[in-house]
Amino acid sequence: MESEFTLMAVHAHPDDEVIGTGGVLARYAEEGVRTVLVTCTNGEQGDGPGGVKPGEPGHDPAEVSRRRLDELQESAAHLAIDHVELLGYPDSGMAGWDANADAEVFSNVPLDRSAARLAELMERYRPQVVVTYDEKGGYGHPDHIQAHRIAIAAAEATGIPRKLYYTAIPRAGIAQMMDYLRDTGVDVGDFDLPEDFGTPDEEITTAVDVSAYFERKRKALEAHASQGENIFLLRMPEEAQRQALGREVFVRRFSAVPVPDGEEDDLFAGLR
Ligand SMILES: [Zn+2]
Repeated sequence: MESEFTLMAVHAHPDDEVIGTGGVLARYAEEGVRTVLVTCTNGEQGDGPGGVKPGEPGHDPAEVSRRRLDELQESAAHLAIDHVELLGYPDSGMAGWDANADAEVFSNVPLDRSAARLAELMERYRPQVVVTYDEKGGYGHPDHIQAHRIAIAAAEATGIPRKLYYTAIPRAGIAQMMDYLRDTGVDVGDFDLPEDFGTPDEEITTAVDVSAYFERKRKALEAHASQGENIFLLRMPEEAQRQALGREVFVRRFSAVPVPDGEEDDLFAGLR
């Protein structure tokens, strides 16, 4: 089935596409929607071979990015993403890391420059729906915050997206998941989440059932093998993975079309 629709997801690093948006990318692709993933950085500040961290011996940023960009292509294939667009900026690392000092890293590049690159892609693909992070970047990573900023700036400059969403992690859902893991005897260690982690449930506008795409999301996550140590979800029991990956939730930042009352279950609601 062909459609005239395009969905664009704007993410910071190779691997960010899977957990919060892998299901909608796969599901809409299957419905004939053209899907575009924009990955802003090359992920140089990820783990090196054997889990070595940036700055440690054996961590070669260029090699890490090559590996991660290969993994991204494999992940995108599992999710049937039509177009992967790389902005190619160096990864800024987490707040406080040495990489932050480099003027060329994504979060330090002037917003007008990086947003103009994304605006070009919006002009080319003309996505009706764009998905990115909220203003906190989900969890505060400088590159996630910057991805949010360029997505908003490009959407405003081009006026092309009719609907724009933030990925969300429902606060109550997380609490439930942690209880479930503790109950099933999973060692969650000192994985103590800050009280303001995630999105308050009443702010969530949209929830999409992507349970049919669970296996493909898991394969896509597994494709990012070099970052396996950081992908906590892969070490959870399958039932917990199904819960965590089977539903993707969003906060609608704006819609130029009328939206349904109550919770939406379709990012293209009102456009069809
Ligand atoms: Zn990231």
